[in-house]
Amino acid sequence: MDLYIGLDLGGSFLKYALGDDRGTLLTDGVRQSRAQSAAEDIFNNIFLAVEKLLEAALIHNGAVKGIGIGSPGVIDAERGTLLGQSPNLPHWADIEIAPTIERKFGVPAFADNDANIMTIAEMELGAGKGFRNAICLTVGTGIGGGLFIDGKLFRGSEYAGSELGHIVIESDGLPCPCGGRGCLEQYASAPAILRLYGEALAEEGRRVDGDLDVKDIFEKLTTGDNAAKKAIDRASEYLGVGIASLVNALNPEVIIIGGGVSNAGSVYIEKVAKIAHERAMANASKNLQVRKAEMGNQAGVIGALLYARKRIEQRETLN
Ligand SMILES: [Zn+2]
Repeated sequence: MDLYIGLDLGGSFLKYALGDDRGTLLTDGVRQSRAQSAAEDIFNNIFLAVEKLLEAALIHNGAVKGIGIGSPGVIDAERGTLLGQSPNLPHWADIEIAPTIERKFGVPAFADNDANIMTIAEMELGAGKGFRNAICLTVGTGIGGGLFIDGKLFRGSEYAGSELGHIVIESDGLPCPCGGRGCLEQYASAPAILRLYGEALAEEGRRVDGDLDVKDIFEKLTTGDNAAKKAIDRASEYLGVGIASLVNALNPEVIIIGGGVSNAGSVYIEKVAKIAHERAMANASKNLQVRKAEMGNQAGVIGALLYARKRIEQRETLN
């Protein structure tokens, strides 16, 4: 049996899984990602996970054909190397991710940006199945993006494209860690919803009471809390407007929204879809669907192992 390993390196966790060529998982696990450590420690941590999965493959009488890994940052997908700094891992910069894993285990390894990897999972097995043109957005602590155009991932001329959280929606807006200003991420991510909630409370002369997360705000919405309604309406407006611009530029068939915020409330997706349809040009949006991502927590590892399979099948091309 041909098996593949999928790895999903994030700011908090390293998720790992072993699966078959259709993305069905045989075993999976999660470790701390040791994101603040030196690159060598992060690699050693990855190696421990891979060793575990190689042992599991033996038990299943399977041969591991390839290893795929998703990492935050701009990745040269051809070579599997990180270009520059990763946003959440301070010592993870200019790293030969795939070549290092490949040298260690003698198994072909492939790396790509984590949002691209999630897009692959959604397009092959999730909400994007059957579509050829899609925009994937992961709305959580930040906003990640993937573009699937004419049946292929679109990465840009230097792998730095599809940073959809950093499209500008306020020309003189809030500063963003990317160095820009007024980025979508500053207005529609989970921290942005919390900030908008604080602002809405302040308008009513109230203050935030205790530690809240975005789930609490959606819960307050169901109890008729006016400030929660204002915050979610404003964030939906921003995300909907951002999506309308993307729809006008790319005329996709489907927008797929995943991440912590979409899990917190389906009402968010409904509001965003309504605004996107209202604000995008009629011809570009008349058949547009807005869907919730379906792959959940395992999107990263499943996408990564599907990516490894794809690259092995089509060694000469990047798809
Ligand atoms: Zn930005």
